Amino acid sequence: MLDPVSILIVTVLSGIMSMAVLGSLRPAAIPGVGYWIGGNALAITGLILFALQRTAPLYLSVMMANGIFSLAVLQMLQGCRQFFGRRPVEFGEYVCWAAMMFGFVCWTYVKPDINARIAASSMFHAYIYASVGWITYKGHIPGRPKYSYHFVTAAAGIGALGHLSRGLIYGFGIVTQTTLLQPNAVNIAFLGLGILALPSLSIGMVMLAHDRMAERLERWANIDELTGALTRRAFLARAQACLGQAAAHGTHLSIAILDIDHFKSINDEYGHASGDEVLAHFGRVVAANIRSSDLFGRLGGEEFALLHPSTGRSEAVTLLDRLRAKIAAGGCRLSDGERLGYTFSAGVDEYRRGETLAHLMARADASLYAAKAHGRNRVMAG
Ligand code: GH3
Ligand code: MG
Ligand code: MG
Repeated sequence: MLDPVSILIVTVLSGIMSMAVLGSLRPAAIPGVGYWIGGNALAITGLILFALQRTAPLYLSVMMANGIFSLAVLQMLQGCRQFFGRRPVEFGEYVCWAAMMFGFVCWTYVKPDINARIAASSMFHAYIYASVGWITYKGHIPGRPKYSYHFVTAAAGIGALGHLSRGLIYGFGIVTQTTLLQPNAVNIAFLGLGILALPSLSIGMVMLAHDRMAERLERWANIDELTGALTRRAFLARAQACLGQAAAHGTHLSIAILDIDHFKSINDEYGHASGDEVLAHFGRVVAANIRSSDLFGRLGGEEFALLHPSTGRSEAVTLLDRLRAKIAAGGCRLSDGERLGYTFSAGVDEYRRGETLAHLMARADASLYAAKAHGRNRVMAG
């Protein structure tokens, strides 16, 4: 049969490995990772002290071991809060921790009661695991794969239930024991479940951190930082998919190519940085005035594209002309307070069954050139 000290040693080793893996994530500056590394370091220290239960004095193997191990799981929770953009530290939790430690002093030195100690510490751990599970369950970002979130929620949920039942069983004296590491079946089952929940949580945190890094890379690859529009590659890929849908369902679809007028002179007159401010302004105004199903991409420089699903040519022209009028009337307020008026021209065309995306865009582009030739600040359709 497994003995409790072996379980502790295995958990210490997995804690060391978790720290090594979490340490590799430090350069990526993922929020919460610092807390998780600290949590594992504390857990390793606490578990080693627990393992000394048969040889070391009580203040080390009971008081410090429990105190440090509880702070370890608290750090895991704080890391979790920071990861999901919440305030990591809750003062009330330290008050509970101090109250629990006071109870430990009483149940160790004044009126020794190992059942009371196990019940108090299990309830504290159950609260922490339940909080980690809840925060992670609520923290899932729509559109991201759910696996790592479910893993952490499940590991934390099992940890919480294990600690809760352990707290109740020992609290009500259903099982009694005289030392913490007594090798009876109930004790080993709970020790195993309770202690191994921590490394499982660490593995889950590593998965969450990896998902956060993947999300960052995807955002960098798909979203243009200056304007918030889709990058050319992302726009073309999504537009291709929309075209496929329009072809399959026989629905309308329109594409517009937009180009800011005389942008070179804006750069020449106000400087490149002000030109960038105009581009950012343009991105914000367009994003605020299109439907969530529309695609908005930056094709390059000051040239953009809009794709309107389920939209015929004349409706698209109306949408574009409303946008054109808005930009022409508003202008952009530069960071130095100066107002810079600017306009754009657009060419619009509607998808014809069987044609390629490149062909449709070339037709919209031809209309854009016609709009430029007719004096700019206008929308023209093929
Ligand atoms: P037209 O009305 O015919 O479109 O004239 P234009 O001056 O807008 O056209 P052109 O394509 O000649 O000029 C585009 C300019 O946009 C040239 C380039 O220096 C500038 N540009 C491209 N990308 C950026 C950018 O990211 N930031 C800034 N500030 N300027 C950019
Ligand atoms: Mg231009
Ligand atoms: Mg241009």
